[in-house]
Amino acid sequence: MLETTIAGSLPKPSWLAEPRKLWAPWRLEGDELTEAKRDATLVALKLQEDAGIDIVTDGEQSRQHFVHGFLEGVEGVDFGRRVRMGIRDNRYEADVPTVTAPLRRRRAVHASEALIARGHTAKQLKFTLPGPMTIIDTLADGYYGDRVAMAMAFADLLNEEARELVALGIDVIQFDEPAFNVYLGEVVTWGIDALHRAADGLRCKTAVHICYGYGIPANIEWKMGLGAEWRQYERIFPALAASNIDQVSLECANSHVPIELLELLAGKDVLVGAIDVASATVETPEQVAKVIEQAMQFVPAERLYPCTNCGMAPLDRTLANQKLISLAAGAALVRGHAHAPTP
Ligand code: ZN
Repeated sequence: MLETTIAGSLPKPSWLAEPRKLWAPWRLEGDELTEAKRDATLVALKLQEDAGIDIVTDGEQSRQHFVHGFLEGVEGVDFGRRVRMGIRDNRYEADVPTVTAPLRRRRAVHASEALIARGHTAKQLKFTLPGPMTIIDTLADGYYGDRVAMAMAFADLLNEEARELVALGIDVIQFDEPAFNVYLGEVVTWGIDALHRAADGLRCKTAVHICYGYGIPANIEWKMGLGAEWRQYERIFPALAASNIDQVSLECANSHVPIELLELLAGKDVLVGAIDVASATVETPEQVAKVIEQAMQFVPAERLYPCTNCGMAPLDRTLANQKLISLAAGAALVRGHAHAPTP
């Protein structure tokens, strides 16, 4: 009960990539880079295990960015044709590649990373992939001319990829869909259909992560303009509750999400964000426990997984590790309460 997990990414060591930065450039190349990614993955797994995290990830140590890591293995995506583009409804700008031809996986994109992670942990292993809607929001289209058609094409590639990852022993496939919190109407009209296509036939737990973004200035500013109550989830949770996806990962810690909205996810596992990734303060175990206990009013304990609000890639590495330790300690505190003998 109350198994802990993380949204996905962890900071990379400074010998691998520039620290405290999104899209951080690699510091090595060729075989040295391959070896360093592998080493960083081992460290990421060990730090999670030692912190007491139950369902671990590879910390996304082998990808520069959670979307572009997958796109690098896709034919039809031209990284030579980068475009400066507003993403997440123009919340911030990014240099994104362009789709110039029909999409096809050039190779098994993440298989070697998954094998390394699987070979070095006996814990349950989650692997994250970008969701179709978030992918098409993080690149330019010079070929399809139709957002939904392009998303569905990516969903098919994601499904091929995910099936291979499951065959390698991955326990949970998570699709990251921060765009679900931006294009609320489209989630219902086609976003979940695309997700179903990506998750079709997977013989493992499936999850979707929907957050308010990394703790970068553009996101923090955006959140400040969202008002006293953040009700985005209210628009999409009923459709997610009716979906085939097993688990929903969301942001709760330090957020203005009314906690009672979790009730709209009845029947789903809920990965409750109990660690704020936009704060440089380490939560105390008691603070983590408080978020979990609030969520437990609306989610049965056996369906509740204490988690981080979002990925921790751009954070200071020591800070992120302390947050992992607090996450596990906070969950243990609640478990202790739950198991305390009743007088
Ligand atoms: Zn996130």
